[in-house]
Amino acid sequence: MKPLIGIPSEAYTKNERTRFGAIAQYTRAVERGGGAPVVIPLELGADSLQAIFDRLDGLLLAGGVDVHPDEYGERVERYCGDIDRARDTVELALSRRAIDAKMPVLGICRGVQLLNVAAGGTLYQDIPAQVEGALAHEHVPGAPRHQRTHAIAIDSPSRLAAIFGGPSIDVNSLHHQAVREVAPGFRVVARAPDGVVEAIESTNGAFVVGVQFHPEDLVDDPRMLRLFEAFVGAAQGQDRSAA
Ligand code: MN
Repeated sequence: MKPLIGIPSEAYTKNERTRFGAIAQYTRAVERGGGAPVVIPLELGADSLQAIFDRLDGLLLAGGVDVHPDEYGERVERYCGDIDRARDTVELALSRRAIDAKMPVLGICRGVQLLNVAAGGTLYQDIPAQVEGALAHEHVPGAPRHQRTHAIAIDSPSRLAAIFGGPSIDVNSLHHQAVREVAPGFRVVARAPDGVVEAIESTNGAFVVGVQFHPEDLVDDPRMLRLFEAFVGAAQGQDRSAA
């Protein structure tokens, strides 16, 4: 059986109609990696969310707007970006359940930030405002999303070093926030040359990995596709009866 990979959606409202959708690059990358993606609506009751969670084999946390700073004990600073509390609620609940159950999780961009906050870590609300000497990590207007703008140095041994097969890789960069204090139960496994955290992994043995770049826009690179294959492979091996 193909593993079911849950992807919490984002809301998009037009003409009084709200859609709960996922960006196709994520569902395509999950399927290319061997999984069956399942998009999860927001605003669900706890029992509905639990019923969905119980059937999942893995959880993918996609990119998107900023996590509410309340969730890591800070006020909203002027340089914080847009926030979606309905999405925070669903993703925090599912992430905490997944971490407890040792369910495989892959967090991407907002997803690594969400994962870190879910486990008790903090974020920089804005890299340019809060990290002195930082590189440009934000999207360059007009540039393609697959454009690689900086390298990352990867710690070894780590899941990421094994997947990428080396100590560094060039990545795309489309973010203005980053992990600040890494959460208990996690460790930093990759950084940009300016020290900004680019990947974290769980230390409890489960495949819980967060990356700050966007591998779903780079899946034509076999190393980036391997990240999705490794994640789906871990989900395939998930013993749900033990969860
Ligand atoms: Mn970056």
